[in-house]
Amino acid sequence: MMKNSLRVKIAMILIASVFIVIVSNQSMDQDILEQKNPVTTIVHDNELETMGRNLVVEKEQTTNRSNSTLISTKQTIAKETVVLSKDEKDKKEIPKPQPAKKRELSIIAVGDNLIHTQIVKSGLQKDGSYNFSHLFDGIRDTVEEADVAIINQETILCDKKLGYSGYPLFGSPYAIGEAVYEAGFDVILHATNHTLDRGVAGIEDTIDFWKKYDDVVVAGLKEKKEDSRIVYIERNGIKLAILNYTYGLNGLRLPKGKEYMVNLLDNRKLVEKDIKLAKKMSDFVIVCPHWGTEYVYEPTTQQKEWTQFFVEQGVDLVLGTHPHVLEPVEWVKSENGENEMLVYYSLGNFVSNQDAMSRMLGGMAQIQLIEKDGEIVIDKATIEPLITHTYLDSKQQFTTYFLEDYTMKLASNHYLNRKHKNTITLSRLQSLSKEILDEWYNIAG
Ligand SMILES: [Zn+2]
Repeated sequence: MMKNSLRVKIAMILIASVFIVIVSNQSMDQDILEQKNPVTTIVHDNELETMGRNLVVEKEQTTNRSNSTLISTKQTIAKETVVLSKDEKDKKEIPKPQPAKKRELSIIAVGDNLIHTQIVKSGLQKDGSYNFSHLFDGIRDTVEEADVAIINQETILCDKKLGYSGYPLFGSPYAIGEAVYEAGFDVILHATNHTLDRGVAGIEDTIDFWKKYDDVVVAGLKEKKEDSRIVYIERNGIKLAILNYTYGLNGLRLPKGKEYMVNLLDNRKLVEKDIKLAKKMSDFVIVCPHWGTEYVYEPTTQQKEWTQFFVEQGVDLVLGTHPHVLEPVEWVKSENGENEMLVYYSLGNFVSNQDAMSRMLGGMAQIQLIEKDGEIVIDKATIEPLITHTYLDSKQQFTTYFLEDYTMKLASNHYLNRKHKNTITLSRLQSLSKEILDEWYNIAG
């Protein structure tokens, strides 16, 4: 979402544009007026020699059009001369037509918003309500600045009546969704292995909750059988299609007749059909698969196979989640070399209360799209490592920072260091990021 300051700038540019249009329309009106009332020119021999002087007079008069009402043959001749020279001047000043502004759009994406019980407790307020804005304090500005911000909401959102819960069957307060929205996220991915943790009621609560936010796109869930599995978001004249699937539901099964409620990454023919339609209906296709093996830094064979399948279908970008750790980023090509696709195999956790350094390390994908030869393509892409900082205050607190902003002092205060002093250090976080991301770590700077 865009910052208010950016909105103000855009509004000022629009006002300025409207002013320019008004001014240019006015001068156009003046030109038309001159043509509608062409000045009759009769030149008498004896008058020609005085033209120069009259010209000066007329110049003064034409600069103040309300005074230029004197009609005489001399002045008329002079007036036309001035008008002609003014026309010539105008011709020189006509700006060359500018090519139409090329469309562009920025996307950011983060991984698993994994709400363990301690995180729920961190949001509890004195009056019994919940507030989770602290989770996003370290990245808020970047999220707000992006045109489209995507997050994987690993856990389902529950009404208070259904009750909140942590591992292994998660159910998170609506206040988590409120904080996600207020942080500036536009696209919420909800197809995860935990989507059915609280049954169909949990899915229904989640769908109901997001209905309040009509500027948010919820992917991966379907309220009705006839709903599409694809969602779309349009910004800056660019329409993105987002397809979100999960490999499974932790062994839970959707009840008979409700199988449609969660998008599953199982039937290739159905996924192929989705991608075909998405390509037809949008400028750029993003697939967000919840896949892979937990705590493994390399993509599995299945991830590789699906990746090849996606690139063959003409997908533009893959944003993977679920392994709870970072996995590599790479460009892949279709066999015929015609399609090139960027894949982030896993963005790791955005926030969690897991107990290993690697699970506190996540990443933010940052992608800039531009229009090139009428097509929307990736201009620039990076990944910025993130670190979930958790520490003891009056209670255990959580905030996710860019690794770039993280300090040795903060690291020394990390909750995971309470037992073993050097579990988390800045240099260990940097070297693990480099090990996993390889040259993409350098791109991240
Ligand atoms: Zn997962």
